[in-house]
Amino acid sequence: MGKVWFVGAGPGAPDLITVRGTRLLAEADAILYTGSLVAETALQWASPECEIADSKSMDLAQVTEWLLDRAARCQTVVRLQTGDPTLYGVVAELARPLDAAGVEVGIVPGVSSAMASAAAAGECLTLPEVTQTVIFTRVSERTKMPEREHFAGLAAHGCTLCIFLSIERIESIAQTLEEAGWAADAPVVVVHKATWPGEELVLRGTIADIAARCREAKVERQALILVSPALGARQHAPRATSKLYDASFPRRFRPARED
Ligand code: SAH
Repeated sequence: MGKVWFVGAGPGAPDLITVRGTRLLAEADAILYTGSLVAETALQWASPECEIADSKSMDLAQVTEWLLDRAARCQTVVRLQTGDPTLYGVVAELARPLDAAGVEVGIVPGVSSAMASAAAAGECLTLPEVTQTVIFTRVSERTKMPEREHFAGLAAHGCTLCIFLSIERIESIAQTLEEAGWAADAPVVVVHKATWPGEELVLRGTIADIAARCREAKVERQALILVSPALGARQHAPRATSKLYDASFPRRFRPARED
C-alpha cells in the first residue's frame, strides 16, 4: 500500500512550490490535480511515466475512489492543490476514507494566496501595536458559514482580514465593513491572480470605492481581498517598532542594551 500526499502547489508562479513538493511530484507514480492552471504549471516536475489526472469533472466520491485505487497499486500518490492544501481544500473530507482504509497520508504545505497577495502588494499582515491578528475567512455563498463566524462579527475585531472565495460579494463586504465600524476611507487591497506570470493585478482602493474599482478592472474571480489597519504602513510614520528589533528588549541570542 502506498502513501497519499496532499501537496500545496502554491499561488501561481511555478517557482513558488516548495522543494519538498517538487521532490514528491518527481517521485510520484500517480498525480491527481485540481484542474486549476496553478496546479498544471507544477506538473512540469512530474516524471514522464507518472499517471496524471485532472479532478475537474470528478465529485468528492470519485476523487476518493481514485486516490484509494492508486494508493492500493502505487507507492507515491500526490493530490496537488492550489496554495496551501489546509485552507479551503477539503483535505479532511478526502483524507477520512483514506484513514479508514489504513492508507498513510501526508500533507506538504504550500504558499497560500493570502501570503502571496500580501507580498504582491508589498504589504504586511501584522504591524506592531496596530494589528497582531489575522483572520482567514470567506463570506457565505453556497457554503454555509458557522453561526459564530458571520462576517460582520469578524470584521468588528478591526484586525487583518484575508477574504477568500468572495470577490463576487465585494459590494456587500464593503458595506458590512462600514457597518462594523471601519472608516469609509480605510484602505482595501484586492489581488487578482497573485504571482501568475504576466497576469497579476493589484487593485488599491478604499472601502467606499473598491467595489467600483473591481468592476472597472473586471476582477470577478480568483482574487483575494485584504482589509487591514496595517495596509499602507510603509507610507506612514511608525506608531511602534517591533520588540523583536528593539535594542532594549532582551532576546535569546542578544543581550539587552541600556543605550
Ligand atoms: N488553498 C488556497 C485557497 C483555495 S480557495 C490557498 O491557500 O490560497 C480559492 C480562493 O483562493 C480563490 O477564490 C481566491 O480567493 C484565492 N486565490 C487562489 N489563488 C489565488 C491567486 N493566485 N491570487 C489571488 N487569490 C487567489
